[in-house]
Amino acid sequence: KDLDAPFSTQCQDPVVAAAATPRENATLVMLARNNELQKALQAVQNIEHQFNQWFHYPILFLNDEEWDAEFKRVLSSAVSGEATFEVIERKDWGFPSWMDVDAARIQMKAQEAKNIYNGGKESYHHMCRFFSGTFYEAEALKKYKWYWRVEPGVEYTCAITYDPFVEMARRGKTYGYVVSLWEVDETVPSLFRTVDGFRRAKGIGATPNWRAMIQPSWAPWPIRRVLGWFGANHRDYNGDIWNLCHYWSNFEIADLDFFRSDVYRDLFGYLDHSGGFYSERWGDASVHALAVHLLLGPEQLHHFADIGYSHEPFWQCPGNAPGGQLLNSTVLGDASGVSPESEHAIGCRCRCPDERRRNNRGICL
Ligand code: GDP
Ligand code: MN
Repeated sequence: KDLDAPFSTQCQDPVVAAAATPRENATLVMLARNNELQKALQAVQNIEHQFNQWFHYPILFLNDEEWDAEFKRVLSSAVSGEATFEVIERKDWGFPSWMDVDAARIQMKAQEAKNIYNGGKESYHHMCRFFSGTFYEAEALKKYKWYWRVEPGVEYTCAITYDPFVEMARRGKTYGYVVSLWEVDETVPSLFRTVDGFRRAKGIGATPNWRAMIQPSWAPWPIRRVLGWFGANHRDYNGDIWNLCHYWSNFEIADLDFFRSDVYRDLFGYLDHSGGFYSERWGDASVHALAVHLLLGPEQLHHFADIGYSHEPFWQCPGNAPGGQLLNSTVLGDASGVSPESEHAIGCRCRCPDERRRNNRGICL
């Protein structure tokens, strides 16, 4: 039995789909800076066009600084649901209070000297720490159960003609993603062993889902499909047996109650106290991926194989679209793709990047 079939294998009438069920208690969330106005607008117009013009979910805009009036004016008028602009509280952004900031800055300088991706950029470390462990503390998110993360500049390349929140809830899903890929190993030398230290300290067993992060061939099929197996014997920077595969968190649809749970908060506190958000450059994508594999069952994860999505330089394109590739056993590892008429066709009204860029982009293989 397929633990994780696509939610929809055809195009629905979105007006009918939107009328069929009430909305879930959910919001889209975009963290952005004032100087990203154009890219934020492009992403919002795109998601309105491909989805929200029918479903009218609210969009919550978060910033660590005061919003410019211009940003608020332009983005408000682009959202068909409610648009809210909030400033992140000081306690939720920046160095933890107990940290030796001078020492952390020296560590970040050292990362810069080693050319570690964004290693020397203090604000980037803050952003990764925010998405790893404090975003769900935002007052404006408290009233919601579900969120969908959107970033300035992303593009949805297919119409989404059903309500993904409703389907997540209906099917008992907690965490949904589109792209999985390998982490940049020098950004996370001790992340895996720290999460594993937490696991052992808490007496949490090595579930199949957890072992899947180490050895994908142990994973249930739908997870193995996206975690891949060619990298099964790959080890991380410190030689620990995580093959570095993770879900790309610039897209996420997830249940906030998972992140707000005691065990997730404890995990974040444990990671935070180890200092790795600054002494290394841990990304929230790997933190989330390791956490969901540690704490959730495979049936609670969902790969949105039917969502066309692009965040440069990686993208996913459903198999029935021109240039698309279906992510199933028949095409995994080869570039043949499937035609729009395929019985496996998924997704809807897609316009995907060109053929030349088709091969397995953004999938851990
Ligand atoms: P990348 O996708 O990992 O290259 O990182 P991005 O530069 O796209 O940043 C990820 C998200 O965090 C985007 O939504 C950015 O707009 C946002 N972001 C990154 N740094 C900051 C920051 O210092 N302040 C604010 N307000 N947003 C930030
Ligand atoms: Mn980005």
